[in-house]
Amino acid sequence: MGPIGQDDGVSPTPAFDIRLYDTRRRQVVDFEPLVAGRVGIYTCGPTVYGPQHLGNMRSQLLPDLLRRVLGVAGYQVRFVTNITDVGHLTDDADAGDDKVEAAARLEGGSVEAIIARWTDQWATDRRRLGCLEPDVVPRATEHIAEQIAMIERLEERGHTYVIDDGVYFDVSTFPRYAEFAHLALDDLEATGRVENVAHKRHPADFALWKLSPSGVRRLQEWDSPWGVGFPGWHIECSAMSIKHLGERFDIHTGGIDHVRVHHTNEVAQTECALDVHPWVSVWMHNEFLDIGGEKISKSKGHVLLVDTLVEEGISPLAFRYFFLQAHYRQQQAFTLDLVRSADTALRRLVHHAVVARDALDGDVSSADAARTAGLRSAFWDALADDLNAPRALAVVSSVAREPGLTAADRWSLYVDFDRALGFGLADAVDPEGADTVDVADVPADLVELLERRQAARSDKDFATADRLRDEIVERGFDIVDTAEGPTLRRR
Ligand code: AMP
Ligand code: ZN
Repeated sequence: MGPIGQDDGVSPTPAFDIRLYDTRRRQVVDFEPLVAGRVGIYTCGPTVYGPQHLGNMRSQLLPDLLRRVLGVAGYQVRFVTNITDVGHLTDDADAGDDKVEAAARLEGGSVEAIIARWTDQWATDRRRLGCLEPDVVPRATEHIAEQIAMIERLEERGHTYVIDDGVYFDVSTFPRYAEFAHLALDDLEATGRVENVAHKRHPADFALWKLSPSGVRRLQEWDSPWGVGFPGWHIECSAMSIKHLGERFDIHTGGIDHVRVHHTNEVAQTECALDVHPWVSVWMHNEFLDIGGEKISKSKGHVLLVDTLVEEGISPLAFRYFFLQAHYRQQQAFTLDLVRSADTALRRLVHHAVVARDALDGDVSSADAARTAGLRSAFWDALADDLNAPRALAVVSSVAREPGLTAADRWSLYVDFDRALGFGLADAVDPEGADTVDVADVPADLVELLERRQAARSDKDFATADRLRDEIVERGFDIVDTAEGPTLRRR
């Protein structure tokens, strides 16, 4: 077990063990880090050819919850999630077009503009949903050399063959190929893959490097030992994850749809190239958000986005609350009404937290460890049990009505729990009595202080940020962090 969990002085939750469901072993396992006290997590990020919808964002909310809980459990977490800006084809069987290239042709824009636009949308929406910033966000196009090196290693070890279309991984050279996803290799129709690339030896063989057809100049292509072309989508994630987390690492996550093709192929090529097994200790997959049932006309024909929620007057953080209402391994049906209910529940929670904060009169120290121990352990036990967020939320709801707790007790619980919840409760404004002021109504020098504090925080210069905050407070204002950015509240 790693070192004792970070102690914020208010909520001394001690380090704890955690159990996670591992897709590879098909069971809940005790999490064991490769290096004591540290965890590396890699999550398949967005393919940036169009907007990331609310379903896609579920695949970011899972690792965000995971890294928060692991942090409180005492680990130092390194979280890497990539940008797929080349190589993801419109078809899982290596035919079809590159999604980013196809979007650029369709919209008549440059690939750079498409990539920048949708990378930005994803990054902004992650923040609006309260996700912590990743430690590294590697881009596939910036790791071409690493991908080529990995393919060369596979070639040296006899796992590849070259055909007109490109360099392919030969699954017959990896006897464990079908194990990861429990595939019936004779029935690949069932896996969604059909043989549609000429001269592929087996339908499951997959492209490591796609060659540009002669006479065709692609928008994104690179030279390689096999000719000009671009990398396969699967090799990207293998090359980027090992570059930023090491040849073996702890946890790899992604949507459940990735198990049969993308992650099966990642495992095959990495275990063959590096001669490791198991390459990744724990594989975690979020189930799908089912957005098929949404009937609201406004969103019909549109992709459901964080923006859609905002248009409907729903706070993006309500979607985070909604995410926590289902276990990540359950399919979750989306309707705007359900997210509206989550919004109401979140407002109630914020209200209770602010009431406790206002009543404690600055005296957090009177919170009593014994009085709060039951709820505290119920909450963290739920999350340590394969991230059982619905059970944890039930504990959060009981804080306000639990008899015998002082305001300081309740506040200390809310602040502690928020390290996993991520609602920003420490700085929350009461939605039922908010007295925020528009930054436009504030003296200019105060706005400047606020901006300087933001810059200091971005630079991780927390000492300066705290000093600037104190100056603002002395002038009679509190800084309140909202999904739309920081704002001021008259004291
Ligand atoms: P993509 O941009 O298509 O590569 O997808 C990004 C991530 O979103 C992947 O991990 C997918 O598995 C995941 N994903 C796609 N659709 C959904 C959905 N409806 N619910 C949850 N996750 C999804
Ligand atoms: Zn991936």
